[in-house]
Parts: sequence; structure tokens; C-alpha cells
Amino acid sequence: MEATTQSVSSTSPAVNAFQFVFHIDVFLLALAGVFALFALPRAVARFSRAAEWRQGHILRSIPLERRAPRPPMRSVQSPAAGPSTADNLTSEESHTLHSEAHLIRHPAAKKEGWSLPPHVCAWSSRVPTFANILRYRLDAGFSLGQALILVIYSAALVYAGFLKSNPFADPLRTGFVAMSQVPVVYLLATKNNILGIFLGLGYEKLNYIHRFAGTLLVIASNVHSIGYIYQWTIDHTFSKNIRLSPHIWAFVALVTVDLIYLFSIPFFRRRAYNFFYCSHVVLFVLFLPALHAHQPGVWPYVIAAAGIISLDYLIRFMKTRVFNARIRPIPDLMLTRIEVPQLNAGWRAGQHVRLRVLSSAMGWFGWAESHPFTIATAAKTPEGMVLLCKKTGGWTGRLYDMAKAAGYGSDEGAYGRTVQIMIEGPYGGPGHCVFASYSAAIFVVGGSGITFALSAVQDILQRDSEGASRVKIIEVIWSVQDSASLTPLVPQLTALIQQSVYTPLKISVHYTRTSEKPAGKDFLPPGLTLTAGRPKIAKVLDAVMSRAVSYGSNVKASLDITGVVVGVCGPTGMGDDVAHVISQVDGGRRWAVGGIEMHEE
Ligand SMILES: Cc1cc2nc3c(=O)[nH]c(=O)nc-3n(C[C@H](O)[C@H](O)[C@H](O)COP(=O)(O)OP(=O)(O)OC[C@H]3O[C@@H](n4cnc5c(N)ncnc54)[C@H](O)[C@@H]3O)c2cc1C
Repeated sequence: MEATTQSVSSTSPAVNAFQFVFHIDVFLLALAGVFALFALPRAVARFSRAAEWRQGHILRSIPLERRAPRPPMRSVQSPAAGPSTADNLTSEESHTLHSEAHLIRHPAAKKEGWSLPPHVCAWSSRVPTFANILRYRLDAGFSLGQALILVIYSAALVYAGFLKSNPFADPLRTGFVAMSQVPVVYLLATKNNILGIFLGLGYEKLNYIHRFAGTLLVIASNVHSIGYIYQWTIDHTFSKNIRLSPHIWAFVALVTVDLIYLFSIPFFRRRAYNFFYCSHVVLFVLFLPALHAHQPGVWPYVIAAAGIISLDYLIRFMKTRVFNARIRPIPDLMLTRIEVPQLNAGWRAGQHVRLRVLSSAMGWFGWAESHPFTIATAAKTPEGMVLLCKKTGGWTGRLYDMAKAAGYGSDEGAYGRTVQIMIEGPYGGPGHCVFASYSAAIFVVGGSGITFALSAVQDILQRDSEGASRVKIIEVIWSVQDSASLTPLVPQLTALIQQSVYTPLKISVHYTRTSEKPAGKDFLPPGLTLTAGRPKIAKVLDAVMSRAVSYGSNVKASLDITGVVVGVCGPTGMGDDVAHVISQVDGGRRWAVGGIEMHEE
């Protein structure tokens, strides 16, 4: 390290580069700390309830309590009884069809005392105008707020790279800048992300910073190398220098980062995910010893990066479970339903798991692939964990074929087959956002994003039955291409509507392929509607806000109005649309309802 520091002072005497880049890392850490401080009040509110400590970290099996029979459910019209009144209306019109009769708390909950989750509104609700500006989309799925974070990050590195330094005269500096970012890039690559824990964000929400930091690391490494090659060339010492062992290792490290970058471009990520993933793992493991052999003085950074990634893999191993699961095909949705009834606790609604299917039917290496899927059920239900895996490519296609080979159907035990699976997780999810702490919840989902809404709604209803939910209105807006997609989920959606005894639940399904008249539209239960065309999200949000405010002075008068949460899970454009709709809401109405917060999954 001393040798390194000396060489720094010889090229750039005004700045000790080793200490300087360390201070830049401290600055970045302090910046992350400021964001964590903003998230702290919500973290404290969330973890003030003991149950929150046990959810969302480790999957487990627990004996389920026997519940007292539910009070009479909302009536659901049988197909034989003819068309319901709701189904003659469009989704938006049907928002007027609600009754306040459901807004009576569970008698047991009243007797035992409610245990309502504390609500702390997000900073975005306190400064909505500022939040709207930051939420403005510069590109699909990329907001101005995210861009600002990247600008600040780049500015810090540019400052580190250029302060009293010229990359061509002092190529060592950019090498130090690259080195200083190695632990940052590795940290942001972890699934069990310590930064994410403090910020209340899943690893997938920080992934854009990982990609950007990785890109800057690659740029800095290349500038560093080109600087030396340039110097050696004008000094006529290139052939002598390139034979030295530290420089050979420098070349190995450079090729490694360049290949990581090349194989991470969307072309490989989208078309050959396995190749992208495997090359990433092999090359990032190779990079650290190559970097150390090139410049032993950087060992603290190498150790930090190796420690971070090793700890992550250790935790991933500890979060992995092997189970026998039942798989069945659902042809209308072109997806495979995976049921693991033995696994019934440890996750939060909206979280996902990484799934491996340990069967030779998945192909030569298919059994080793792990794919992320959102959990479609709430924890602590008799059905356990359910995943809905849409057939989109090779792996999900083989899974679907395997389930299909065993037979179609949905009756328990009659169809499908049992396979051994490996489940790792849970990951992601709503972080410090507790859906049950809001006055109203809207879930806008597309395609297989319905899994997110199913688990979130089930979770709210479950908490509601325990007197642990503030939610007065739940709306689900599900966009599908084909109206036939609804058919296999009608029983599950109907069951949810039946369970919504204390809080009215409305589910509007919108289909975009309008060539055929949908079958069975006339036999949907009240609360479930099927409409052609795109949903009018602004209108639904408006209706929900009005109802949330009016309920606040009525049946649930004792409950404060704690805002509306809008959960989104679907194609990127869907999140952008919802963000735009929220930004258009009048400030007075927003204030009256206690704020509108958006959670994207
Ligand atoms: C957090 C998260 C939750 C998800 N939840 C669901 C869900 O509940 N239901 C559902 O049907 N789908 C879900 N998906 C999508 C699902 O993971 C992919 O459709 C599946 O991995 C595709 O695999 P494939 O080999 O069949 O398709 P491919 O054709 O190989 O890939 C299709 C797309 O999926 C991506 N992909 C492929 N393999 C992986 C992998 N191992 N890890 C991450 N991305 C990959 C590729 O980049 C590509 O864009 C989720 C994805 C994420 C990131």
C-alpha cells in the first residue's frame, strides 16, 4: 500500500489519491445515510409491530391456527341465477355499486382491541409537488429522481478523477477511482442488500445503480489502461512494460471487466439470460484476484468486495429450501401453477422467490437455473405458497410442458404432477410500505402481474379479519390481452371478493383483444367486472379518493384518513402511466385523502 501511495504522490503530489478516493466512498456512504434517515420514520413504524420482524426474511412452515368461522359472506350470484346487476355496467360505472354494510369490523377484533398498523406517510406525500417532479419519467421505467441520483454519483466520480489531475498525465488516478467503486458495484449486485435494508428497497430497485456504477467502473478502468499505454508508447517502453507480471494481471483484470460489460448489454440479457448470468459470475470471481495481483495495495477494496459477495451467497444458501411441489398447467393463461402447501410463512405480500425445478425434464442444465417469481398468495393460508409462472421462453416453456404432460385441470390431486423444487428467498417486496396502513389500496396490474395483486389483497383481507388493517376500499385493475385469461382465476377472485366482508373489494378486468365477445361475462359475481379496452385509471383513483374521504366521516369514523396506496406490477409502460395519473391529481384532493403513494413491483 505504501508503494502505491508513494507512486501516487510522485505523479500528483497535491493529492493523495488513495485517501482521496476513500473519502469519495465515505461521501457516497454518507449520501446513502441521508436517504436511510428519510426512510427511518417508516422503518420504525413498520418494525414497531413484532410480527414485522418475522416476515419477509426467511421462509418457513408453521402450524396454522384454527380460525373461528367467518361471519356471513357477501352474496355471490350463481351462474344459474342469471346475470348480476354489476356486469351490465362498465368497470368505472360500477364503482358506484358499493355498500357501507361491509365496513363493520370483525366482532372479535373489536372485543380484543384493534391492533392497527401505525401509518407514517412517505416524504413524497409531504412534498407532493417535488415528488411529482422527481417521478417524471424521462424514459420507460426511468424517472427524473433516478437520473438525479446517477448525476450526483457521476459528479462525485468525475470530481475524484479530475481534481488536480489529467487522465493522460496521471493515469493512476482513474485506476484508483475504478478500484474505489469495486465494493460499491459488488454491494449493489447482492440479493441480500444491506443498503436496501436501510432504505427499505429490494435489490431489484437498486439494480439500475449497480448497472450504472458498473459502467463507470469499466470506463475508469479503460481510461486508466489507455493512459498507461499512451505513456509507454511515447516513452517507447510498451514492450518492456507489458511483460511485467503486475501489468499482465492488469491486462487480465481489464479484459475481465470489459467482457462483463459486453455480456451485460440488453442483447445478451434478453436473448441469452443464462449466458449473461454465468459469464457475470465467472468473470466477477476472476476479477478480484486479478486486481489484487495487479496492485496488491488495493487489498482492502478486494477483501471488502469478496466479503460482501461471499456473505450474500452464504445468506442465499441459508434462505434456500427444498420441497415437493404440485405443478399444473393453466392453458387459458398459458402458465404453470406451482403449489407448495407445506411452505406457509415467512414472506410479505409482493415479495418474490427464486425457483429451481430439480427435474431432468427441465433439460441438461435447466434444473440448475433459478428464475424469479412473485408469490401469489399471502402467508399463513392453508394453500401455502403458490407461484404462477407464465410461459415466456425456454425454461418456463419446459416447465409448462412438464405440467401439461401430466394433464389439465384444477381439481386438487386430480391433475398435474409432483416435482422437487428449490426455493430461495423471499426477496424484494414493498419495503417499509405497509399496505394495510393506508385508507385505500388500488392495485394496477398487467398479465402475470396479477400474482402481486392476489397476494397483496389476500394479505390485507387477512389482516382486516384480525382487526389489523386500516384499509376501507380495495380496487384491483387487471389488464389482460384476452378475456379468456379471466376464466381460470374466477374461482380465486370470487373467493377474495367473498372474503372481503369488512372492506369492499372491486376487481375490474380489462381485455385489449376485442375481436370476440367474451364468454361467461354474464355470470360474474358482483364486484368482478370484465370490460373491453384499456382501464381508466384516473377515474378509478378519483372515485376511490372520494369514497375514502367520505368513509372517514362515516362508519369508520374513528380511523384517520391515511392516504391511498397504488401498487403497480406489469409492463414498464403501466408504471409510467400510473405515475402520470398520480401526478395529475389536484393538490387539495390529495391532501384531503392523506396523500397518494405509489409502489412499483
Ligand atoms: C422480480 C421478478 C418477479 C417475477 N415474477 C413473475 C411471476 O410472478 N410470474 C411470471 O410469469 N413471471 C414473473 N417474472 C418473470 C420471469 O422471471 C421470467 O419470465 C422467466 O424467468 C423467463 O424465463 P425463460 O427462460 O422461460 O424465458 P426467456 O425467454 O429466457 O427470458 C424472458 C425474459 O426473462 C428474463 N429472464 C430469463 N431468465 C431469467 C432469470 N433467471 N432471472 C431473471 N430474469 C430472467 C430475460 O431477461 C428475458 O427478458 C418475474 C421477474 C422478476 C424479475
